[in-house]
Amino acid sequence: MTTAVQKRMRDLSGHNYIANQWQPSSGELIDLIDPATEEVVGQYAHATKAEVDEAIVAANAAQKQWWAMSALDRANAMHLVADRMIELSVETGECLTREMGKPFRESNWEGGAAASSFRYYAEIARHEQGRVAGPAIAGQIHMVLKEPVGTVVSIVPYNFPLLLAGWQVAAALAAGNAVIIKPSEITSLTLLYSMAAFDHLPSGLVQVLTGGAQTGQDLVGHKDTHAIAFTGSVKAAQAVAATAALQFKPALIEASGNDAFIVMPSADIDTAARGAAFAAFLNCGQVCTSAERFYVHEDIYDEFVSKLAAHAKALRVGSGLELVDIGPMSSKRELERFEKIVDRAIEQGAEVVCGGSRSADRTTGWFYEPTVLKTTHDMDVMHGECFGPLAPICKVTSLDQAIAFANDSELGLGANIYTNDLEETFRAVNEIETGIVWVNTPLNDNDAIPFGGRKLTGTGRELGAEGLELFRNSKMVMIAPTAEADPEWFPYPDDDTYEATTT
Ligand code: NAD
Repeated sequence: MTTAVQKRMRDLSGHNYIANQWQPSSGELIDLIDPATEEVVGQYAHATKAEVDEAIVAANAAQKQWWAMSALDRANAMHLVADRMIELSVETGECLTREMGKPFRESNWEGGAAASSFRYYAEIARHEQGRVAGPAIAGQIHMVLKEPVGTVVSIVPYNFPLLLAGWQVAAALAAGNAVIIKPSEITSLTLLYSMAAFDHLPSGLVQVLTGGAQTGQDLVGHKDTHAIAFTGSVKAAQAVAATAALQFKPALIEASGNDAFIVMPSADIDTAARGAAFAAFLNCGQVCTSAERFYVHEDIYDEFVSKLAAHAKALRVGSGLELVDIGPMSSKRELERFEKIVDRAIEQGAEVVCGGSRSADRTTGWFYEPTVLKTTHDMDVMHGECFGPLAPICKVTSLDQAIAFANDSELGLGANIYTNDLEETFRAVNEIETGIVWVNTPLNDNDAIPFGGRKLTGTGRELGAEGLELFRNSKMVMIAPTAEADPEWFPYPDDDTYEATTT
């Protein structure tokens, strides 16, 4: 049986979304594979340079139209995007699950979560558009006006394509910009599909160009794009930031995470173990804020390890369109990369508590068993991003040691602690060097609070009022009520002439 969504996925294959039309690309076509069945579900195209040029011309024209509208009309148009994303979310959800494997519950959720950021930004942007300062010259008005930068390039990964593009597009539109989205190769069709929620906007205001690193670079390096919003791996982020820097383009960089998860004896261990299973295995561990390394106090280490392993073993693994908790890894390449990380940890002495191999009962699909390892902090697995269904757990003797290990990382996205002790809470919040700290509430976010990381995780913030800043230029404006001569002008008075003082 072919579903309506599967048919639509075939229709969208090999297209870009330019000037509010799905247009066939003349670029090379690459197959998209369902990671649960290994069947071809469609193709994405490598957008050509001519298609990049065409989209950028349309974007810059649309941006002028958009900025000429009232802030209230822009807000209403963004609320309509939100309504339509919610209406579409069952369809985009099925498409997303077929493209990258996550359970339908999660892919369906993404449409609504993205819609929420459109509603937030629709209102926050019209709340203020600059500020008036106390004048440095009596009687004048001195102010800063916030203006759009122009056309924003949004480059997004495969793990939360609707949500992450939604965060960037909502903020960029609210600030008055046009946006061109460059989706991950793996989830090209989901973003093309979602464009049905945007077709009431000026033609070319939001567009999708598919392709890989080259398409991304063509957009970032183009002289007529004006700011970059990137989410993805550190390596790609560095390439994007370098290209943007040559033209002094502002770049929001949201790269990899290696989040620590600390558990102290004061915590409710049952809840901590359940929260840990969610934090480690959600979306098959393919979350930038996945708990990537656990630091558990020695007094409760054995209890915590066995409780987390029990949750891991109980997870239902299978096709995201069935009743499961986790799906497959998103691609064969990702599965093979992840397998090497686990194998290396075992080689370095990690003890397998559960999992540690591909799912033996599956003949097709890129499934891996949820895995719990007993590790030590010196192992490689504790020092990078595994981005797969793995919970490596290291024993610590104190909170001091847990915080020191948490901070011993080149990355700085988020960190979790489970504790019921107020002093431990304060210490974790103040001393952990990350952009996010969660105390007893793993992996949550809030449209109204900025999200982002430190160190090699990147620079800039998404969400919150702060999330508008990268997409706006500040213009300093000073207005005098009448044209009057300024006493500071020429000619300078004679008594200001330099006179040497003698000793
Ligand atoms: P990726 O870096 O392979 O790809 C991300 C995007 O960048 C894709 O659209 C890709 O086509 C594009 N790209 C790749 N190389 C490029 C280049 N040289 N120039 C321009 N564009 C380029 O990442 P992925 O595998 O899709 O996603 C997983 C990564 O994303 C993980 O490292 C994860 O931590 C990170 N991530 C970070 C956040 C965050 O908020 N910090 C959120 C989600 C995912």
